[in-house]
Formats: sequence, C-alpha cells, structure tokens
Amino acid sequence: MRLVWLWSHCLSTVSSFASLNLAQPLLQAIEQSGYTEPTPIQQKAIPHVLAGADLMAAAQTGTGKTAGFTLPILQQLLEQGPRQRKAGCPQVLILTPTRELAAQILESVRTYGRHTKITSMVMFGGVNINPQITALKKPIDILVATPGRLLDHVSQKTLDLSQVEVFVLDEADRMLDMGFIRDIKKIMRLLPQQRQSLLFSATFVDEIRELARGVLRNPVEVSVSAPNTTAQRVHQTVHLVDQSDKRDVLSHIIRESGWYQVLVFTRTKHGANRLAEKLVKDGLQAAAIHGNKSQAARTRALDDFKSGKISVLVATDIAARGLDIDQLPQVVNFELPNVPEDYVHRIGRTGRAGAAGQALSLVDREELKHLKAIERLIKKSIEQTPAPKGWTPSVASPPDRPAAAAKPRHRSRPNAAVGARKPARQSNVRSLNG
Ligand code: AMP
Repeated sequence: MRLVWLWSHCLSTVSSFASLNLAQPLLQAIEQSGYTEPTPIQQKAIPHVLAGADLMAAAQTGTGKTAGFTLPILQQLLEQGPRQRKAGCPQVLILTPTRELAAQILESVRTYGRHTKITSMVMFGGVNINPQITALKKPIDILVATPGRLLDHVSQKTLDLSQVEVFVLDEADRMLDMGFIRDIKKIMRLLPQQRQSLLFSATFVDEIRELARGVLRNPVEVSVSAPNTTAQRVHQTVHLVDQSDKRDVLSHIIRESGWYQVLVFTRTKHGANRLAEKLVKDGLQAAAIHGNKSQAARTRALDDFKSGKISVLVATDIAARGLDIDQLPQVVNFELPNVPEDYVHRIGRTGRAGAAGQALSLVDREELKHLKAIERLIKKSIEQTPAPKGWTPSVASPPDRPAAAAKPRHRSRPNAAVGARKPARQSNVRSLNG
C-alpha cells in the first residue's frame, strides 16, 4: 500500500529532469550544465510543449525559461528521428528582440543539444550577412533570429519559413516595446498555419494578449513569477546623490568595495560612453555596450566582462536586455529608468536562477518620483543609505561635461588591485529554488 502511494506521489510531482521524459542525450547535457532539478517554469512548460500544445508563458529572464522551451523542442526533434531536410528551411524558429539574447539562446540550444546531431544557427543584423547566407545553404533544424535580419533573408530568398513546425516568440513584451509589431505580423504571414507556437513574456498586459490571440491557438497559460519576485530576492539599496556627483561616487564605490563584476545601467548611450570613459580614467577596467556600438565591439565587451577581463560594463536598457551573466553579483542603476518595469528587468540581471544578488541605485532628487513608482510596483520600499564618504563633491563640473576633461577628484588612488578581491569562481552548480 505504502509503495503504491510513494509511486503515485512520484508521478504527481515533477521534481527531476528524468521524470519529464527527456531523452538520455539531453539528460546528459543537463547534468553537465550542473542543473539538478527543473526550475518552476521548466516544470510547468515542458510537459505542455512535449504534448504539442500552444503555450503562453509569463516568465522573465532569470527563471530558466530558455531551457523551458529549448529542451522540449530538442526532445521533439529527437523523437522525429532523421529525415530529409532542405537547405535554408528551418523546422523551428525562435524569434527574439536583441542580438545578445539571440546569441545566448543559440548557446543554450547548442549546450543542451551537444550530444545530438540537431543543427542550429543564429541570424541578427549589424554583422556581415554573407556568412549567414553560406550557413543557410545547409539544412538547419533550429533557427534563432531577430526580426529585421530574418526579413532581409526572406526578401533575398535565402530563407524559407514554410516548413516551420514550432515557432517561439521570446520576450514578446520587449518586442512590442522595441516597435517590432509590424515585423512580427509580416513573419507570422510567412509561417504555415499548422504549427505549434510558444509565446514568452514578462508581463501579460492587454497588448500582449492581443498579440497572443494572433499567434497562438487555444494556448495553455502558465505563469511562474510576478514581476516583483525577482525584486524580493535581490538586495536593493538607494544612495541619494546629486546627478553631477554620481560619476565620482560610483567610481569611488567600485574601487573601495573591490567589486569585480558590476553591470551599470545608464539612460542614454552618450551617458554610457561618458561614464565608461570616466571609470577607465580612474583606473578601472570598464567598457560601454549600447546600440551605437558595432556588433563586434558589443560581443568583445560582453566576452571581456564575462571572462573577468573588465570589471565594469556600462549598458543601456536595450543593450542589456536578456544578458545572461553567470552569477552576476552586482547591478547599479546610474539613473533610474522612467518605466518602473525596466527597474525589475535591470535588477533581474543579478539574482538569477535563485542566486542572491545586489542592486544599488544612485538617485538624484529629480528622480524621487521614479523611485516612488518603482516601490509601488515591487510593493516594498527600498532601503536608503547615505552615499559613502571619501570622494570630493564636484563643484565645477556640469553633469554633461566630457569625462576626458575632468580632473581626478578622488582622495584615494585608483585601486590597481580591483580584480584582486575576486573570489574563486563558484561552481557552475546552481540552486533551483528560483
Ligand atoms: P534564462 O531565464 O533562460 O535566461 O536562464 C537563467 C539562468 O538559469 C541561465 O544561466 C541558465 O543556465 C540557468 N538555468 C536554467 N535552468 C536551470 C536549472 N534547471 N537549474 C539551474 N540553473 C538553470
């Protein structure tokens, strides 16, 4: 009797990857990634995707959503077995708003599919189209793409979407924010009617529901985290600082705290450049990443940041969207975003997949209204602590003065040993309670 109970209990809870009925090559790759159990979105989404249902999932980056759609898609392709495939005709299309996110999704597809023969490629703008055209001359199973470059290929007839069986629209909310709605509609018209569609979005506001009606058929709805869940996990603080002092204060804090990996958000591309220049001038290894940089520069900055070559990455919201940096310990809001939801996205770069993280916001009096709106959204007040001492407040420098013209005003010397406090890299095994 007890045995029967135990057995049925095991069947009713999906607490391991093996119980999700994934094939051995996928389980092996999952184990090598250090994952011990599926995250909540994976537990909820994978069975429905495997059953062939359309899915509408409320999940933001950091929840493990990429594996939530990638694993069952790989499983479905494995179950189909080898079959005749045409060049330039993917079976799976994953559409995503930014180049960085596209590159990361491809990395996930390849990581989880490393013990299979499933083929994949990525396409996005800002890079030479010719290598993509060459790659499309071979059969590919999974295509990860941003909308603009995908449509370029369609118009050049190098890509044919008529064989797509599974369509994933990732970060749908951000797609709409970035004005991709017309491109999405064009792409929808190129897909076969008969297909499985999965839509992922951090929020289900009315516009997303309307978009979903056009994309999905009788979708199963799953939801794992309200936007404020991340906000509960990340330790957040605010320093009230005049806008004109922020650069000095931040430079001082980074050097004094020995932060070895910090992602800093600015509102504008110019602001990102100026701040990065100032930090470099103060002896820190910093780089800026934003839409005006070439793809090569963005990739290099991101790689250097991930590998620890640079310790500060200054980014705008769009450039940082979806960045997945393993165990990122620290996020700074150099300015608060106007849209409160962006604050949650920003601090969600840290504290991913259940890890702890810290977020510091430098807030000028002018920004207090944004702070109030953010606190209303996350339903808690953020601790305000005084900015650290040890820096000389700027008197003469207006906020927009180029950093190159600024004189160093720090009492303390640039700390050449900033990377020195970096702890030994933690194991890749992450906790699963996120
Ligand atoms: P995502 O939300 O897809 O961007 O994933 C966020 C992070 O969670 C990535 O670094 C993944 O490698 C990691 N992750 C995904 N699934 C799991 C899992 N089951 N256990 C631990 N970490 C995971």
